[in-house]
Amino acid sequence: MYIGCHLSASGGNAAMVKTALSIGANTFAFFTRNPRGSRAKKQDPGDDALAVSLMREHGFGRLVAHGAYTMNLCTADPEARAFAGDVLADDLRRMASLPGNFYNFHPGSHVGQGVEAGIAYIAAALKRAMEPGYPVTVLLETMAGKGSEIGGRFEELKAILDAVGSKNLGVCLDTCHVYDGGYDVVNDLEGVLGEFDRVIGLDRLCALHLNDSKNPFSSHKDRHACLGEGSLGLETFRQIVNHPRLKDKPMILETPNELPGYQREIALLRSMKS
Ligand code: FE
Ligand code: FE
Ligand code: ZN
Repeated sequence: MYIGCHLSASGGNAAMVKTALSIGANTFAFFTRNPRGSRAKKQDPGDDALAVSLMREHGFGRLVAHGAYTMNLCTADPEARAFAGDVLADDLRRMASLPGNFYNFHPGSHVGQGVEAGIAYIAAALKRAMEPGYPVTVLLETMAGKGSEIGGRFEELKAILDAVGSKNLGVCLDTCHVYDGGYDVVNDLEGVLGEFDRVIGLDRLCALHLNDSKNPFSSHKDRHACLGEGSLGLETFRQIVNHPRLKDKPMILETPNELPGYQREIALLRSMKS
């Protein structure tokens, strides 16, 4: 079982691995650049090599890097859209320091242009950024469907996957987002995974974000809660960590915690594994 959480990238990649080890994690997530800005973290090949060897030594699962929230590939202004596309391409190139891992991002918000136009812009940016030989698998995150967000329906993610047509593109399922988006993982996890399989294919499900939700079912809100303190409840997470189709996927906590809280939730999830 690969469980981890979001970590601060400010100290470098090896420091993140050491922090992960100190809280019982064997995968983690980090923002490739300031989550609300566009400044990328600087690269350090020696530090990256140390991170890779520590992860190998300790049997880590694949990491799930996260693109900046501000990167909207389907924003209306052509210049801003091109800039977001450049950020994506640069992020993918930079992941060469941690080859073989995942890079996840929020597909984008169409800001009134319509779902179809948004999907076309996102797919075009991905096609441009995913140069041959780039070193990671790119993941689209399932969204809550807040405002004009794309990715609140499995069909929208499938349309992007089809338009890009790359085997190196998958999906990261966020439990808070899908529940807020109207997929009832609390009462019918099996049904939601069946729907995912029918629409997208479970072979494309590569990682999970484990978050409880501060809001009720189908609220389209997207506010994360600590495990067991929201509308999903602990039993949902027990089912998820024990589900045969999910058991080898990296599971990343994005709950409102500092490190001690993450350490407790990681231990809790491990204790639920039967
Ligand atoms: Fe996210
Ligand atoms: Fe998430
Ligand atoms: Zn969220």
